[in-house]
Amino acid sequence: MNALEATTRYFKRASKLLALDSKVERSLLIPFREIKVECTILKDDGTLASFVGFRVQHDNARGPMKGGIRYHPEVEPDEVNALAQLMTWKAAVTNVPYGGAKGGIGCSPRDLSIHELERLTRVFTQKIHDLIGVHTDVPAPDMGTNAQTMAWILDEYSKFHGYSPAIVTGKPVDLGGSLGRDAATGRGVVYALKALLADHGKSIAKQSYVIQGFGNVGSWIAQLVHEQGGKVKAISDVTGAVKNEAGLDIPALVKHAMETGGVQGFQGADALNPNELFAEDCDVLIPAALGGVLNGENAKDVRAKFVIEAANHPTDPQADEILAQKGVIVLPDIYANSGGVTVSYFEWVQNVQGFMWEEDKVNRELLRYMTKAYLNIKEMCNSHSCSLRMGAFSLGVSRVARATMLRGWEA
Ligand code: GLU
Repeated sequence: MNALEATTRYFKRASKLLALDSKVERSLLIPFREIKVECTILKDDGTLASFVGFRVQHDNARGPMKGGIRYHPEVEPDEVNALAQLMTWKAAVTNVPYGGAKGGIGCSPRDLSIHELERLTRVFTQKIHDLIGVHTDVPAPDMGTNAQTMAWILDEYSKFHGYSPAIVTGKPVDLGGSLGRDAATGRGVVYALKALLADHGKSIAKQSYVIQGFGNVGSWIAQLVHEQGGKVKAISDVTGAVKNEAGLDIPALVKHAMETGGVQGFQGADALNPNELFAEDCDVLIPAALGGVLNGENAKDVRAKFVIEAANHPTDPQADEILAQKGVIVLPDIYANSGGVTVSYFEWVQNVQGFMWEEDKVNRELLRYMTKAYLNIKEMCNSHSCSLRMGAFSLGVSRVARATMLRGWEA
């Protein structure tokens, strides 16, 4: 089952729980617009290279469509569609006034020079600039893209439409980016985790953690959990995996990864086979990298009590069922990683108002949104006797359905 089939399946279950009208169900499933463009660039060696770029705008009932742009070799239409749909429900769960979108370019960013990446980003922006907009569709970083990528989009878009900092979020602070946006997805995961653990009479400090991914999301989670007294026992990234039963020294690991490009070879730990990471004994397992990593094969080996989906769609439906049977509590992606889009909203608000917030205010507001969303999800779980995933889907879908019906059908 691919990501789109899985997302659609969860949506249909939520639709059934909510007894949605079939017309509304149909309109929420079909994306508003799917864009596919060819991006040809001159490589540094003088040859031409072509890449396919996508932007799927899923739904705009609750506001401008919002979502990241990823640069990854596996970017393909079905996955971008699924991720765009997840953004619609995610924005609704955290209750920011946005719809959902997602984009990407099928490329391997590690194999492109900084100049080639800049050219590719500018060509992609030229092809889609008429279809995005401050009140239409606002891109952000995702896998393989970062604040610099957003700065290039901002610059290219502004050539056509005049200076428009609010056209992207997750941009550098010097160009109107928000303080705290860089850490926001990871910080939001930790706030979500705090709400979940408190609900189970536990705290961050007393738990042990295993984290997959040490990029922008995973490394912030590790640092924040470590700061709060949690024991991070094992971490993996593209270079390998490391483990220390007594707890990894996270600040030293961050330094090592910055100097060497990854966690592999870290002195204060033993090497671990990355394929065995999910079977490590721990309280909290946090996949914070790719989608589809927990599947029918490896879910049975999970020994954690809680799985926190910091990545988008890390658990396939087969794994979801196995984990439920084992009594593992899964905090779903559309809530767990919604701190990114929430602080993107704060960034957009600051740009539109032309007024910058202190970092403290950003983090306080983020905590407020994450805590409120958890309570709203729990209310859904209680009234429908369902899992946290179905509670989150039902909450998101119900908010989008209400907005759709209020806006009406007459042409
Ligand atoms: N790419 C992030 C996500 O998947 C952030 C999206 C945004 O800030 O618009 O949620």
